[in-house]
Order: sequence, then C-alpha cells, then structure tokens
Amino acid sequence: MEILIAMTFVIVAPAAACGVLYYQTEVDAPRGLGPLRVSCPHCGKPQRFLRLPSTAHEFFFGGYTCGDCGCRINKYGRERFAQSD
Ligand SMILES: [Zn+2]
Repeated sequence: MEILIAMTFVIVAPAAACGVLYYQTEVDAPRGLGPLRVSCPHCGKPQRFLRLPSTAHEFFFGGYTCGDCGCRINKYGRERFAQSD
C-alpha cells in the first residue's frame, strides 16, 4: 500500500502536472509556458526578456505592454484586449 502512495507522489502527480502544463500551453491558456522572446504584434518591437509587469494580469499570468505603442501583449506574443484588471 505504501508503494502505491509513493508512486503517486513520485510518478503520477508530476506526470499529471506536466500534462496539464502541456495542455495549457497548447491552447494558449494563461497558465501555459510562453516563448522566451516575443515581439509586439503592432509595431514589431522585440519585448525585453526581463519585464516589469504593469498590471495585475501581467504579474500573475505574464505578458507585456509595448513601450513604443502601448499595445498589451499576452505571453504568447498576441495582442491582449482590455480586461477588467
Ligand atoms: Zn508595439
């Protein structure tokens, strides 16, 4: 019985977490992993690797605000439209 509990914590739970992370990335969900460098979809300016979040949404879920045109960009490099944040 103890081996089943140990296997759950060592193998099954991390595999399930990786599966969820992969799915979130595939569907461009806020909890997925984005590319390391993105460019602004409006002006094409590459965004900084190290960023300072300007909104609560950017703090929690990633994303950028373009310094040139003010476009809000999600972590995948697509324009993010205004939300209540
Ligand atoms: Zn821009």
